[in-house]
Parts: sequence; C-alpha cells; structure tokens
Amino acid sequence: MQIITGFILAIIIAYLAYRAHSLSQSGALAATIVGTLIFGLGGLEWAILLLAFFITSSALGRLFKERKRGLNEKYSKGDQRDAGQVFGNGGLATGFVLLHAFYPGSMIGWVGYAAALAAVNADTWATELGVLNPHPPRLITRLNRVVEKGTSGGISVTGTVASLAGAALIGILAATFAPQPASWTLSLVITFSGLAGSLFDSFLGATVQAMYYCPTDKKETEKHPFHTCGTETVHIRGWQWLNNDWVNFACGAFGVVIALALAFA
Ligand SMILES: [Zn+2]
Repeated sequence: MQIITGFILAIIIAYLAYRAHSLSQSGALAATIVGTLIFGLGGLEWAILLLAFFITSSALGRLFKERKRGLNEKYSKGDQRDAGQVFGNGGLATGFVLLHAFYPGSMIGWVGYAAALAAVNADTWATELGVLNPHPPRLITRLNRVVEKGTSGGISVTGTVASLAGAALIGILAATFAPQPASWTLSLVITFSGLAGSLFDSFLGATVQAMYYCPTDKKETEKHPFHTCGTETVHIRGWQWLNNDWVNFACGAFGVVIALALAFA
C-alpha cells in the first residue's frame, strides 16, 4: 500500500517540478522512480530528507538564476535537471533504501542514505551559493591559483560555508527522523561526511573530470558534444566518461564511505 501512496506523491511532485521547469521530461520520470522507491520502501521519514534536498536545491537554483546567467554555459546543464542528474544525485540514496528494505534492522541503510544526500546537498548548495562570494574562487588542488567563477574544482569561503550548511541540514534531519533512536553524534557524522563529499566533488572537478573547450567562444566548458552556442566542443582534459553526473555520484559515494567508516568504526 505504501508503495502506491509513494507513487502517487512522487508523480505529483515530479509533475509540479516539471511544470516549474525544475525537471526536464526525463528528469521527471527519473524523479518519479526515485521518489516512489524512497517513499514506498522507506516511508515518510526517508521522504523528508529527499524532499529537503529536492526543494532547497530547486529553490536555490531558481533564486540565483539571474546571478548565474552567463555562468550557466560553464556548467554542463541548465536549471532543468534531466534523468542523468536525478540519478547522479539520488541514485546512490535509492540504493540504500533498497538495502534498508532487505535489512530493516540495520542502521547502515539509513546512515548511507543520509550521507549520500548530505554530500549532494552540500555540493548543490556550494554551487548555487558559491556565486555570491565577492572574490573569484581558488582551485582546490592549488589554493594560490585564482580561477574564473563557475570553474570546476574552484572553491570559495562562501561556497564552503554553504556546503557545510547544506550538509548540516541533512545531518540534523538524519538524527531527528532516524528509524532507531540516534544521538546527535549522527548529525555531526553526516554533516562532516557531506562536506567531505562536496570537497571530493571539487577535487575531481580540478583533476580528472572531463573538460571541454569551445573554439568559438574560446572558453572551457563541461558541455559536450555541443556548447550553448551550438559549436562542437573539444576534449581538453580529464577522463571522457567522467561527466558531471558521475562526479555527483562519486561525491555521494565518498560521503557514504566517510560516514560508514566514522559511524561503524
Ligand atoms: Zn561556444
């Protein structure tokens, strides 16, 4: 029964997000799958964490749309999240709700789920709010090197504080809605893991993430095969398979590894 309720709620939310241009058609379909499984197999407590991520990231994306105008071409995709982004951000969390369905007595499902969401939430908050930093960001691998705003691998004080806040929100919710009584240590573990995952995301962006170049605009971009201007982009560095969606997935995975190590070691 709960899976049907989950399906109905997921389809309503995905439809509203589609109408609000927060999700593309493929993104709405993917969000319906993710939402149905998380609400259907986890329940309301699990859905609250997912909604906290989904609502705040959509709202922040909308709020700072103007500020990011001109920067958007640097990111591989616009504000409408497609299936790749939905699975990149929510796929790992969905895996942990499945684990919970098989082993409901274990806390691993909940800790992994919360850590995966904390990491992608931290990363999204950092990306959306980082543009408010008064100074251009610095490369995470070489802090003495100033880079253009929106460059993958760039970090700033505002972005890092936003990342910490984004992780802390999921951390607090994770301790509040844990299926078994949890201490506030869980909040700290999830917050720290989320921040670590987000920094790992920047690290990958600065090192091995696939980067392209638009010969028309003479600009570095994540967009491939075509830039916003329509020109075919040229691969300049990084692993070609490691696009933004896989980097988001890795961000969550890194957060999960840290959280499980801290919580169960
Ligand atoms: Zn171009």
